[in-house]
Amino acid sequence: MKLTIQRGAKEIGGSCVELQSGTSKILIDFGLPLVDENKERFNSEIVKTIPKTELIKNGVLPDITGLYKDENPAYDGILLSHSHQDHYGLLSFVSPQVPVYLSEGCKELLDVSYFFGQTTFAPTNTVTLEKWKPCRVGAFTVTPYLVDHSAFDALAFLIEAEGKRVFYSGDFRGHGRKSVLFQKMLRDPPKNVTCLILEGSMLGRSKGLYQSEQEVEDKLVELLTNQERLYFMACSSQNIDRLVSIYKACKRSNRVFVIDPYTAYILDKLKGISANIPQYNWGKNIRVFFVPNTYTERMADNKKLFKFKSAKITYEQMKELRKKLVVKDTDLTRKIFSRKKDLVNTTLIYSLWSGYLPEIRFLWDSDNVPIVEVHCSGHIYTENMQEFAKAIAPEFTVPIHTFFPERYSEFLRSEVRVVGDRETVDI
Ligand SMILES: [Zn+2]
Ligand SMILES: [Zn+2]
Repeated sequence: MKLTIQRGAKEIGGSCVELQSGTSKILIDFGLPLVDENKERFNSEIVKTIPKTELIKNGVLPDITGLYKDENPAYDGILLSHSHQDHYGLLSFVSPQVPVYLSEGCKELLDVSYFFGQTTFAPTNTVTLEKWKPCRVGAFTVTPYLVDHSAFDALAFLIEAEGKRVFYSGDFRGHGRKSVLFQKMLRDPPKNVTCLILEGSMLGRSKGLYQSEQEVEDKLVELLTNQERLYFMACSSQNIDRLVSIYKACKRSNRVFVIDPYTAYILDKLKGISANIPQYNWGKNIRVFFVPNTYTERMADNKKLFKFKSAKITYEQMKELRKKLVVKDTDLTRKIFSRKKDLVNTTLIYSLWSGYLPEIRFLWDSDNVPIVEVHCSGHIYTENMQEFAKAIAPEFTVPIHTFFPERYSEFLRSEVRVVGDRETVDI
């Protein structure tokens, strides 16, 4: 079996891993870069305007044949680990004849992003994977493992061929709402793994103030209890763990979580996959504010909005109840409050990666709204990487999704092989 990291060996984002056995080839993830060659934030708009050949020349698209739309497919499939753009964001260039293997939750979230115009493409040639059930893709046997990550229904993969086993961790962690999955994997790891491809996003990053989803929830309760203020909440509508933490914190502090129809729609879409996901009709701690925006209009056109009306809260009601609310931030909601001068005695809770905060801080500064950061990482901490690698005990580990691959050998006992992008390793 041959392993080639097409992209992502020495950076966070743009992950694309190739495995070959005989003439059979598969890819794992086909992501959009997060940084450019100067390590500045990648301008994702360029993939919409620059032609494919140019993107290959610039190194944005991997230089491989038999994958893209105008080519005869040479790949048996693409496995998607999860619904973050840095793992699937370049799929629009791929021939529709190459099937995409993904989890049910990942499929729903890709469809939602496309429906709301956040992405320009969602794959239609898809195969939904059943967790922990081996399936055949070309010459490979693939077993998907559900993992704890900030993307819902994220997968790791055990991939077997020629009597060898590769384990691809994808993005994962041991401190989210599904940390039991991490503990379970430590207790009962896949055996006889030849090569572990292990993410290392947290190398070189600090853990931050709050180190688990539970700590985030507890800090939110502390903030929200007995404070005579309105809280805005900047968080991702697709980070389901975080929405659960916020909803639980609202219940514990007797507040109402006011979401937008887009968020209500996502939660509703995922309810069949997990019964723990808060829903618009769960009663007094959750309401929907119909801020007029393109999402709402799109949903109204499709008559997908109607059922959320039963949980509707008006602007006037929000004004009255302001000290009892946590309002999910959207650009338009903030603008309405700002225009009506209703942002006095308000705090923004910033519950996203701090790297993006400087881009929006000025919006709140102009209304003198203080910002409190309450967040924890979607990625595995170094000590958990250590435990994980020890449990899997592979013959060797290949770093991925990190800016510091050479640092793995400082804390992993087993052999580490740092490979560069487009370098092929025999397994
Ligand atoms: Zn990632
Ligand atoms: Zn991710």
